Order: sequence, then structure tokens, then C-alpha cells
Amino acid sequence: MLPDFDAFGDQTLKGLEAPEEATAATQALLKDDRNSGEPAIDEPGENHITLERGICREGVWYREAEVKELTGADEEAIAAAGSSSYKVFETLLLRGVRTIGNEFMNRKLAAELLIGDREFLVMAIRRATFGNDLEFEQLPCSHCQELVDLTVPLDAIPFTRLENSEQTEFDVPLRRGATAVVRLPTGDDQAAVLTIKDGNAAKQDSEILGRCVLRIRHADGAVTRRPPATSLSMSDRKAVLKFLADTQPGPRYGDFSFVHETCGKEVPLPISLAVLFRGM
Ligand SMILES: [Zn+2]
Repeated sequence: MLPDFDAFGDQTLKGLEAPEEATAATQALLKDDRNSGEPAIDEPGENHITLERGICREGVWYREAEVKELTGADEEAIAAAGSSSYKVFETLLLRGVRTIGNEFMNRKLAAELLIGDREFLVMAIRRATFGNDLEFEQLPCSHCQELVDLTVPLDAIPFTRLENSEQTEFDVPLRRGATAVVRLPTGDDQAAVLTIKDGNAAKQDSEILGRCVLRIRHADGAVTRRPPATSLSMSDRKAVLKFLADTQPGPRYGDFSFVHETCGKEVPLPISLAVLFRGM
């Protein structure tokens, strides 16, 4: 069984914001799934995707990626990755992605990719392995408790695009007329955050900020390069973190919801790694 709530990047940045009812809905689904077994498998899909950012080699951007259907051997490797959701995620990428641009997948390449590209690749691996539809059965509506059967095509999951794929630095307005120049976090940054073992969210935020804030332009024109994250005011820290979370491209697994026809209400249904690869 894959870990439940996991190392998806938007969660690394935003913390666990899923409302309790949504978590309850997902848990009910997973419990049910454990009893009833196999996911519904439809036709495996297209194995090529275009990443939002991709990789840059000598000034040229490569965004085409090829994934493959996971085999039993891959499944064993993923199970052997243990309970660390980051390791599971990493193993999924290393086993399920064939190429990015002209390069075969490897650890270094995986670390270089934007968090959002990594999450999009995982979606493509899921599609190649189990098809495009997530099938939910007997999912309790969090408002009226009626049990719902639901088919969610992967492309119904909200997806954020980059306005300009080749833009690598962004301006974030701070207080007192200053501007932070930032880059978006990658797999490497995510790994660094997750080594902060005590789960201290402020320290994790500092790690991301220390890595992603390249410089501060002050109102008087002075520039501070690589400012220590602890030197930023709380509101500036918040502004940068929000920008990083909002701008990171790719699927927003945690933001999926559906409208229950019977009661007309919106039901949050965050999609976890365990839901994507259920049956593994
Ligand atoms: Zn309902």
C-alpha cells in the first residue's frame, strides 16, 4: 500500500490544508478499496507528454518526456522503497519515466525538474499503467452521506500552467517597495526540505526561501544577494511562499472536488498518491 498523504510539492509548500471532511472521504474510499480489491483498468493511454518547464541544455529547452507502463518488477521496487513518501515518489519517477528530452531518466535529472513537472510525470505514469480514469465506488458524500459512484478522468484534476515556460526568475513584490527575485522549487529543493526531520514548518519554509530567493531589490536600488531566509519579515516570507505555491505549474491533486448531483453541494476529494496508484 502506498503512503496516504504524501510528498506532493504543493503540500510541502502549503502544509496540510485539506479539510477534515475531505480526508475522511478519502480514507473511507481507501478502506473500501482495501476490501474490494482491484482498480478498474481501462485502455492504457498515450506515453508522451509535454512538460511545463522541462530542462535546459546549452540554451535549448527540452520539454518532451516519455513514460512507460509500470511492470511487476517496478511494483516490487516501489514497495521496497519503504514508507518514506519522498522515496516512493522518487522510485516511481525513476522506474516510470524513460526520457526527458534526449536524456534517459536518472536521479540527477529527477532532482533538476520542477516539482510540478515531477507531479505531472507521475500522472502520466499512472495513465500509462492503469489508464485515464480514476474509479470511485461507494464514496460517502461529506454533506448528505449518500454513497456516490464516480469516474474522474485524470484531466479533470485542476492544472496550473506556466505563462512562459522559459521564464526562470520571477519578481515578487514585498513590503516597503522591495522586490524578491525568486526561482521555482525543484525536486532537489523538495528533498532538502524533507531532510528537516522534526517537521518544523518554519524551518522548512526557511529552507525553501533560502534556496529560492535569489536576491532582494530594495526601494533605494540596493541589491542583497541570497538573503538569509530568517532576515525576511514574516509578511515577506508569506508573500514569497504564496507566490511559489500559486505559480508552481502542474496538477493540483489536493484541489480536486466534485459536485454531488443529489444534494448539489461541492465535495472536496483530494487525490493522493495512494488513490492514483491504488491496487499497487
Ligand atoms: Zn451530497
